[in-house]
Amino acid sequence: MVSHDLLIVGGGLAGLAAALSADPKLDVAVVSKVHPIRSHSVAAQGGINAALANNPKAKDDTWQKHAYDTIKGSDFLADQDSAELLCQEAIPAMYELDHWGMPFSRFPGGVIAQRPFGGAGYPRTCYAADRTGQVLLHTLYEQCVRKKITFYNEWLVTGLVVRDGVCLGLVAYDLNTGKIQPMKARAVVFGTGGYGRVYKLSTNAYINLGSGIGMAYRAGVAIKDLEFVQFHPTSLIGKNILITEAARGEGGYLVNNQGRRFMEDYAPKAMELAPRDITSRAIQMEINKGNGFNDQYVHLDLRHLGREKIHKLLPGIQEVCIHFGGFDPVDKPIPIQPAQHYSMGGIDVDNAGASSIAGFFAAGECACVSVHGANRLGGNSLLDGVVFGKLAGRAASAYIKGSSGKTNADQALTADSEAYVAKVKELRSREKGENVYKLLNDLKELMSENVGIYRKQRPLEVALEGIKALREGYKEVGLHGASDRYSQELITLIEFDYMLDIAEVIVLGALTRTETRGSHYRTDFPVRNDDDWLKHTLMSWTDKGPKISYRPVVIDKYKLEARKY
Ligand SMILES: Cc1cc2nc3c(=O)[nH]c(=O)nc-3n(C[C@H](O)[C@H](O)[C@H](O)COP(=O)(O)OP(=O)(O)OC[C@H]3O[C@@H](n4cnc5c(N)ncnc54)[C@H](O)[C@@H]3O)c2cc1C
Repeated sequence: MVSHDLLIVGGGLAGLAAALSADPKLDVAVVSKVHPIRSHSVAAQGGINAALANNPKAKDDTWQKHAYDTIKGSDFLADQDSAELLCQEAIPAMYELDHWGMPFSRFPGGVIAQRPFGGAGYPRTCYAADRTGQVLLHTLYEQCVRKKITFYNEWLVTGLVVRDGVCLGLVAYDLNTGKIQPMKARAVVFGTGGYGRVYKLSTNAYINLGSGIGMAYRAGVAIKDLEFVQFHPTSLIGKNILITEAARGEGGYLVNNQGRRFMEDYAPKAMELAPRDITSRAIQMEINKGNGFNDQYVHLDLRHLGREKIHKLLPGIQEVCIHFGGFDPVDKPIPIQPAQHYSMGGIDVDNAGASSIAGFFAAGECACVSVHGANRLGGNSLLDGVVFGKLAGRAASAYIKGSSGKTNADQALTADSEAYVAKVKELRSREKGENVYKLLNDLKELMSENVGIYRKQRPLEVALEGIKALREGYKEVGLHGASDRYSQELITLIEFDYMLDIAEVIVLGALTRTETRGSHYRTDFPVRNDDDWLKHTLMSWTDKGPKISYRPVVIDKYKLEARKY
């Protein structure tokens, strides 16, 4: 049986940060369904936040001001101790990356360059042109190779193995051999990323199906605040490829069909650099009011920045427009619409990434500490992965050292693995069977139509009923392809099961939360209600459906206020 001290699932930023911070004396391995540098983190564009105070306009920036912006941006749902930890740790994390050779863009004199981003009081987003995620992920991967970390690439984890509240390891599907088998570990860290492809219009990679969140939920860990789904304001119409916030940070304008910078009606001070929830709603409202183009999009205009600046600071965006839009943003405005982008909620963990299951930790987009509350600021997610990935790796190592290591895990691991093999065999034996891709498309349509930027009771109920029907459909699903090796159908089939749980938890949370906060805008409850709803939603799996409970938000320093930008 495959066996390691520490198994980390996910080769994105969070997973690799955990691997690098784990105790080098331990036997550590990373499991990823794609090669690590194909993880979704590679697509991150605009930058990563830290109050380095390098920008001439940010000389008096501090981590406390970064924490305040993060908490205000979160619509006061972030736990304030966690947000402070994130922002404090951001500064040494940037220098560590720098020393590892991360090729940041630089200001004259050689210090790390920093640009303005939405909802930030100072220009504090460090970047590498508009390919920050790519160089960041490559830097971490290089360090993992240097440290000789073991990788299981193209292994899809199908479930956690837990007995008596203790995590014993995993079951995984090795895509290359087609075999499903157990993987034993004394601790497991999940850095399995977001669930963007539960939605039809999403900036996320097609691999972002979110199964890790579903596995933790089924294993008994609560899922926190999943109703808070971030819609990014600017995705290229038709393809929904992200057009980074840095395009507005560098001075881009949002313009409606009358040629007006309409953000003056919604956020007169911050304008295009209001937080994402506010900007996405403003764009959608303009489209709904008939001020968009073809009732579908508005313009992001970069033309006044000039060819040189666009080419130097936003080369990736220029290429995306040329190759996927057929135009150069130097000459034409970019047609954009909001699209699902990020999950504020996730696996319920503490500041060390520890969950309610002993030996099971999580970090990055799949986890909810919570530092983003009801709305994440741009540039804080890469940071979340780097900082909390590192803390989770350390905490998992400490857990392993403190535990005896004498578990009788083999029987449980073998039993769970054999049960999964039997399940796949049974699916294959079905003569006919529902097509999982059809179900997946139906789910995406359902979520995009009913659980979007603006929410209301009836559409949310429709979504819940739709998910129920899709669950019935899933019971009839079949496996049509003949081969077990690299079976995309099998991968989708395994992950779709968990996607149904995720969708249900999002919708139920949204339906239950009868207020408006951050990204969660209820047209039938359009006001923030701190008296009743200043609390985290926790959902736990039961065989009768999700069980809801709540937890107070940690508020220790920053006073509640109305969010004005
Ligand atoms: C287009 C785009 C641009 C962005 N730009 C920025 C930005 O500029 N700044 C910023 O702060 N944030 C940005 N974000 C958000 C940020 O990139 C992500 O939140 C972050 O990279 C997530 O990192 P992660 O390590 O948690 O997950 P990921 O990078 O998504 O990695 C998940 C890993 O888990 C593995 N995995 C998942 N499920 C399984 C399974 N069942 N079995 C085995 N392996 C599994 C995958 O193979 C992958 O290796 C952007 C997001 C998008 C969509």
